[in-house]
Amino acid sequence: MFFIMGITEDRKDFELNQLITCSVCGKYGRFIVFMTYTVLSLFFIPTFKWNKHYYVQTSCCGSLYELDPEIGKAIARGEQVEIRQENLTKISSGGGFSSGYKKCRQCGYETTEDFEYCPKCGTRF
Ligand SMILES: [Zn+2]
Ligand SMILES: [Zn+2]
Repeated sequence: MFFIMGITEDRKDFELNQLITCSVCGKYGRFIVFMTYTVLSLFFIPTFKWNKHYYVQTSCCGSLYELDPEIGKAIARGEQVEIRQENLTKISSGGGFSSGYKKCRQCGYETTEDFEYCPKCGTRF
């Protein structure tokens, strides 16, 4: 007797209509929530899922965050939860849409140059 087994990586997206002001690019955007997991299939039927990770990507600049798994599970159950900044661990800053975009917190100066300090008011970026 033998089993037809397969292990695959999969991804599931969740709809979330939470409007955010992006902390990376400063624009309005949306959170795109998705989960990645490893699934074991037996006779082509997914029987076991593990290694679940929840991620959040911003629609504005594509910044990627790892999401607190408790929040992720609630979203997966279809609950209306609000994702707060403290639930997120940044993996990578966006740059897919405007690479190197920086905005000064102090005076609002915008630049795409790789300055460490704001050339206008001297605040550290
Ligand atoms: Zn952004
Ligand atoms: Zn400034």
